[in-house]
Amino acid sequence: MAKQDYYELLGVARTASADEIKKAYRKLAIKYHPDKNPGDKAAEEKFKDISQAYEVLSDPDKRARYDQFGPDAFAPGAGGGRPGGGFQDPFDIFSQVFGGGAGGGSIFEEFFGGGRRQNPNGAMDGADLRYDLEIDFEDAVYGADTKITIPRLTTCDSCGGSGCEPGSGKSRCVRCGGTGQVTATNGFFSVRQACPACRGTGEVIDKPCRKCRGEGRVRIEKTLQLHIPPGVDTGSRLRVSGEGESGRRGGAPGDLYVVIHVRPHAVFVREGNDLLCEMPVPFMTAALGGIVVVPTIAGPAKMKVPEGTQNGTLLRLKGKGVPALRGGGRGDLHIRVQVEVPTRLSAEQRDLLGKFEKSLTSANYPKRRQFEEKASNFLKESK
Ligand SMILES: [Zn+2]
Ligand SMILES: [Zn+2]
Repeated sequence: MAKQDYYELLGVARTASADEIKKAYRKLAIKYHPDKNPGDKAAEEKFKDISQAYEVLSDPDKRARYDQFGPDAFAPGAGGGRPGGGFQDPFDIFSQVFGGGAGGGSIFEEFFGGGRRQNPNGAMDGADLRYDLEIDFEDAVYGADTKITIPRLTTCDSCGGSGCEPGSGKSRCVRCGGTGQVTATNGFFSVRQACPACRGTGEVIDKPCRKCRGEGRVRIEKTLQLHIPPGVDTGSRLRVSGEGESGRRGGAPGDLYVVIHVRPHAVFVREGNDLLCEMPVPFMTAALGGIVVVPTIAGPAKMKVPEGTQNGTLLRLKGKGVPALRGGGRGDLHIRVQVEVPTRLSAEQRDLLGKFEKSLTSANYPKRRQFEEKASNFLKESK
């Protein structure tokens, strides 16, 4: 049979724009799609031909070759073609145009009712589950073993997942005649859809299992032992394999994902594997230096405050942070010094401080001296 002209096939002029070619293809592809013409061989051939024509004419390189050499440019063994001169699967082309193209996605889903590939035996894998777990700060740092109780669907033990009351069975669905599909009208399209009576399985349950009402699965609460590794933080996900919802009709179970939320700590703020602690230090200790007791997650520790420590100084305790989740040492603990100025002084204390202050010179306040110099320069210049 002589090859039909690609332009004629799509019903467009040889000067047609890419947009016109695409529009023409869309219209014809919907008309001749095998899902809309079950068992119609002629329509299927037509669908293949227009898909081939579209594949060539939608590609500027291929279109140029076609215009020069005609269909022979794409014959098996022709120079420049792929081995065998093969064309793409017409269904791939169709889904590229309807599924991926601009504004085409929803049409594709509507056209097929969203259920394109039905597993013939109706097996469906169980869904993954998400469980949000709030844990204490220390448990995130050190790890913990805990129990969680999750509601979930599991295979019904009364019917073994079949959904049939013990002793009964299934028979062919009357609505779809056992094919699992029915023709439905969707807008102006007439489309094949999964049969609502049997949900596409082609079978109906004679007597639904009393325990699961024919679902084959029941909702139960399951308690799981969960190990929280040290070093987790808010947002960490722990995967528990096979503990999601159970599958249907032999499908595999899903996984459980535990998402960690760490409660804030009264003393520490966590930054990755480092910890930060804002700690007030008496102004005498800051001035003279000394040893202070600081909290760490492992208990109290002694820390040296150097002489003349200023407000806001960060002091580091190496290795007193959080262990790294995947091994490899620990973070550090940073202490931010808040120099605390004494308040509510008695008359005697005021007197003592006054005497002390009189003994000081500007050399004792280098920052203050520097600032005064800068400020007076600025004021002089701006006069
Ligand atoms: Zn059951
Ligand atoms: Zn049915």
